[in-house]
Amino acid sequence: MPLLEVDDLHVSFGTPDGVVRAVRGVSFSVDRGRTLGIVGESGSGKSVATQTIVGLTRGARVSGRATLDGENLLGADPDTLRRIRGAKIGMIFQDPLSSLHPYYKVGWQIVEMIRAHERGTSKAAARQRAVELLDAVGIPSPRTRIDNYPHEFSGGMRQRVMIAMAMALNPSVLVADEPTTALDVTVQAQVLDVMRDVQREFGTAIILITHDLGVVADMADEVVVMYGGQVMERAERRELFYRNHHPYTEGLLNSLPTSGGRGKLTPIAGTPPSMITPPPGCPFEPRCVYAFDKCSEKPPPVEIPAPGVHTSSCHLPVERADRPRLEAS
Ligand code: SF4
Repeated sequence: MPLLEVDDLHVSFGTPDGVVRAVRGVSFSVDRGRTLGIVGESGSGKSVATQTIVGLTRGARVSGRATLDGENLLGADPDTLRRIRGAKIGMIFQDPLSSLHPYYKVGWQIVEMIRAHERGTSKAAARQRAVELLDAVGIPSPRTRIDNYPHEFSGGMRQRVMIAMAMALNPSVLVADEPTTALDVTVQAQVLDVMRDVQREFGTAIILITHDLGVVADMADEVVVMYGGQVMERAERRELFYRNHHPYTEGLLNSLPTSGGRGKLTPIAGTPPSMITPPPGCPFEPRCVYAFDKCSEKPPPVEIPAPGVHTSSCHLPVERADRPRLEAS
């Protein structure tokens, strides 16, 4: 059984304009020491899906199944979820300042977090562990820097501090939601390296949520592509990059800058669908260059008859070579 398993997750919110169906039947899983990339535009439901499994979408209507090491997450009471967050699932976000308190020294914040979950740990022992964690994520002079405030760190260093804090209780899963979006490319690569090191050292499973397929290119073992609250395609990384099937994945790849920046960038035309009244057929149909009659009438199946775990929710034939024939008909 995978370490973290999510099956047929649905999440919706009541709003004055109607019910927003943010996540519609999403399934994914991740195992120890592996990285799952969840990719999609904003509003695709990728963050809502992961926030729901750790109980951060209060007031949402939720159905489906999510288990961590066999423990049911969706039915868990708030106290259990609080224990799970931090101790079993660490989280880092795009903006570390939204998680680090600006008035307290970073060391104090890490120490308090350790002691809140491990009541028997002394201040000295927690502080020693905080120093080791800051050292492990590449903060220079951690014995001194532990007494700095968050604003005394650069953006990349603050993100390292967040990773140290998320790893303080040695969680089995690290959820990183757009961890490098606010950073320049060099610092982004350094932060991803730190996550990789942490994974190697602790065997952590990582869920990397991003709008940028480039970020998962050399980080993820498996990739889930989300659109309109649903999984469009799921495959091992190499398979997704070199043998992708879904037109939305193809569109995301075409909109990636090529090395040297000389290639032509082709953005996906159009805008994401309304999640209050999603299209009755394929959610990508209004923007899809391959769309045909069936696409607007019937939701595509989630599975394609392909070997392995590669799935694509699309009416197109399994073989890409058959597409031109279909376009001609
Ligand atoms: Fe495009 Fe149709 Fe496939 Fe949707 S089902 S991605 S509209 S071809």
